[in-house]
Amino acid sequence: MENKKELRTWLDDMKLDHPLVIAGPCSAETEEQVLKIAHELKDTDVTVFRAGVWKPRTRPGGFEGVGAVALPWLKKVKEQTGLLTAVEVANVAHVKLALEADVDILWLGARTTVNPFAVQEVADALEGTDKIVLIKNPINPDLALWLGGVERLYKANIKNLGVIHRGFSSYKKTRYRNVPQWQLPIELKRQFPDLPIINDPSHICGNRTGIQEISQIALDLNFEGLMIETHITPDDAWSDAAQQITPARLVEIMNDLKVRKPKAEGETLDQLQQLRAEIDVIDNHIIDTLAERMKVAAQIGEVKKSKNISVLQDARWGEILQNMVAVGEKSGLSQEFIESVFKAIHQESINKQEEIVTSK
Ligand code: PEP
Ligand code: MN
Repeated sequence: MENKKELRTWLDDMKLDHPLVIAGPCSAETEEQVLKIAHELKDTDVTVFRAGVWKPRTRPGGFEGVGAVALPWLKKVKEQTGLLTAVEVANVAHVKLALEADVDILWLGARTTVNPFAVQEVADALEGTDKIVLIKNPINPDLALWLGGVERLYKANIKNLGVIHRGFSSYKKTRYRNVPQWQLPIELKRQFPDLPIINDPSHICGNRTGIQEISQIALDLNFEGLMIETHITPDDAWSDAAQQITPARLVEIMNDLKVRKPKAEGETLDQLQQLRAEIDVIDNHIIDTLAERMKVAAQIGEVKKSKNISVLQDARWGEILQNMVAVGEKSGLSQEFIESVFKAIHQESINKQEEIVTSK
């Protein structure tokens, strides 16, 4: 897919003077719940009302959504509040019903984006639609799979596209429900700067306390919008209770968020250019230093080869990591950061040494 400027038009057409905000419950539960939430969101900066109608549950027996009965409720939301409406679709039947009910925005959930068969089925069912279609990132941190979803929809002649970053599942226990892994949406933005990207802090955090922080990071990274799960009585929600916030709390968060200018001008630009020049010099030093280190690692490889010693020396590697974490801490560098940097450096040294040891 080329970088298509036309991808942005639906967002530009909205002419918002603030980031796009999509809010509403994880799941539509009752007509009363849906309408109450929508009315509370009506006179705020929220533009789009979301509600899951069909819910993908990890295990059977959980609440799987009320289904198509909720679609007329969303019609009422639109009529009574003027908010646009958005639902998740995962198969042809969902698409047909959502289009018939004139839902404005259809999104593909994380569990759908992982499956190219399902994405293709939805893309075929949506062929040529002028509705807005948003694609959540797949559960696993695979940018190609995410972009593949966008491409399948683009090829089905759907031009009003956007993506939603909802974080990535991890086998490690972390403070997030889904780890943000910001480098993935950043890379996506680099490759497709005109594809609107919306952050979903609710599914990243899995709790209420982190929503503001994640939203601010997303805005600082120039995301075009936020999707935040909102419920009148979050504790009683039928799904994702722990992460939903009240409309009142959402308004507080929106008021506290700082929207910064996407580009610097004048004196600020001069100041930034000066600092960026310094960063460029430092980055070049880092590369030179790494190259130096690899040369020494290669010499070690030669010694190991001549003496027939194995490439990986567990104890030595443990020692390096421990020392560097301690040194890094003194300079205010986090353990997580030092570990990831040194693991990458060590892996490259091993690759180099392996090449030498196995060469004739
Ligand atoms: C949701 O938006 O409620 C949802 C199910 O999200 P995800 O597909 O990101 O898990
Ligand atoms: Mn949810």
